[in-house]
Amino acid sequence: MEGRSRPTVWILGDQLNRGVASLAGREPRDCRVLVVESDAKLRSKRWHIQRLHLVLSAMEHFAAELEEDGFEVDYRRAPTMGDGLRAHVEEFHVEDVVAMEPMSWDGRGMLRRLGVETIRNNQFLCHYDEFAEWADSRASFKMEDFYRWQRTRLDLLMDPEGPAGGRWNFDHENREPPPLDGRAWPEVSRFELDAIDRELLARLPGYWGAEPDGTWPVTREQALVRLDEFIATGLHTFGPHEDAMLAAEWKLAHSGLSSSLNLGLLHPSEVVEAAEAAYRRGDASINSAEGFIRQVIGWREYVWGVYWLWMPDYRRANSLGAHRRVPPAFTGAASTEMTCVASVIGRVHDHGYAHHIERLMVLGNLALTAGVDPPAMTEWMWASFVDGAEWVMLPNVIGMALHADGGTMATKPYASGGAYINRMSDFCSRCRYDPTKRTGPVACPYTTLYWDFLARHETTFKSNHRMAPQLAGLRRLKDLAAVRARADEVLAALDAGAL
Ligand code: SF4
Repeated sequence: MEGRSRPTVWILGDQLNRGVASLAGREPRDCRVLVVESDAKLRSKRWHIQRLHLVLSAMEHFAAELEEDGFEVDYRRAPTMGDGLRAHVEEFHVEDVVAMEPMSWDGRGMLRRLGVETIRNNQFLCHYDEFAEWADSRASFKMEDFYRWQRTRLDLLMDPEGPAGGRWNFDHENREPPPLDGRAWPEVSRFELDAIDRELLARLPGYWGAEPDGTWPVTREQALVRLDEFIATGLHTFGPHEDAMLAAEWKLAHSGLSSSLNLGLLHPSEVVEAAEAAYRRGDASINSAEGFIRQVIGWREYVWGVYWLWMPDYRRANSLGAHRRVPPAFTGAASTEMTCVASVIGRVHDHGYAHHIERLMVLGNLALTAGVDPPAMTEWMWASFVDGAEWVMLPNVIGMALHADGGTMATKPYASGGAYINRMSDFCSRCRYDPTKRTGPVACPYTTLYWDFLARHETTFKSNHRMAPQLAGLRRLKDLAAVRARADEVLAALDAGAL
């Protein structure tokens, strides 16, 4: 009967760390642990196989580690999360179930409906309640202001006289075009698949993408290896080339840590502290260390905060009235001759990953200018990337990439023609399309659609002073009718998977 009074700690699939608030400080004798694998979640999207494998493998490995540490773990496969909990409660006669606050709006609703007690989430450096207080205290809440507030209160990269290096922001040094000297980029370890992985893959047929090859850490130990590798070999070159894209390089000097952070295998504090320590040792330049720390404590925590601030209405935002389906060239239903898209989608297929500029300026930019439906694009990206989660994807897709929130998050849309991609990559030199042309059969689809997008939404943007130069450029075009006619052809070909 002693076991009947022990509480159950329910560990959700993105809370895989002994330090999560619901588990921290507990001993095996104090509680029982529940992990639920929901069949409904498995079938809820067209998941990339590496994404699905990563989450399930990490859950199983974490459960096994807890068992090794002496915890009694009920790892349960069930039709839904609720079914799993109910079966657990019935079998073990459980009276109290606690969980850490979940990472999603729907997850929070589910725990409330099921009567699960929740403990404040400690997986971010700024809890969403703190973010809401910060946002409430100001008329506008730009990411840059939030980032400086985080840097100061967390005492990261701060010297007695102010920000390390004398400035808050080294973006100017961090927007270099890609080096075209054929240099080698940092390699990442591939972790050997084990019996858990093999059993998983045997029961997960029919999902898309290349099979897992051990690229993505499934345990904390592996995630720490990836962190050490990045600090030793990637961080010092990260900054200058963080916006660059190369056809033959899937990751360049990006860290590959986002999936580990988003599953809880790593905590953001240890990641940014390691980056700062490298800078203090002289192993990384200030622009690389600052650029990386900005991504983690600035952007990552900012999108987490705005997600909770603006949900659930944010899900439905579609201020530009975009309703096109996700292009077949993205989903793998068609190939494409656009080298930029083919290269980036190739990486998504092979690794379930593309870096942030590829997501924003290749995939997002085309979806924005073509008018792809925001919820559909969010859903596709969420399912296709190893680091996908609703809290990440909604602000990044709705707010940043598709400007579907009417400028609440980004003051102007991230729309550009082929010129930006040509400057920041080697894609265009290998492409049948010409980034400088907006009409004719070899016109770059990005360039054509950029002008068509501005023309379609001219009325919407004319009161936005940040769009004035673009709209002035639009009004100077002598061939707008021909551009718009070509745009109709491009959109039809995009829909047909014939671009
Ligand atoms: Fe992409 Fe246009 Fe460049 Fe081709 S020319 S790679 S479609 S941006």
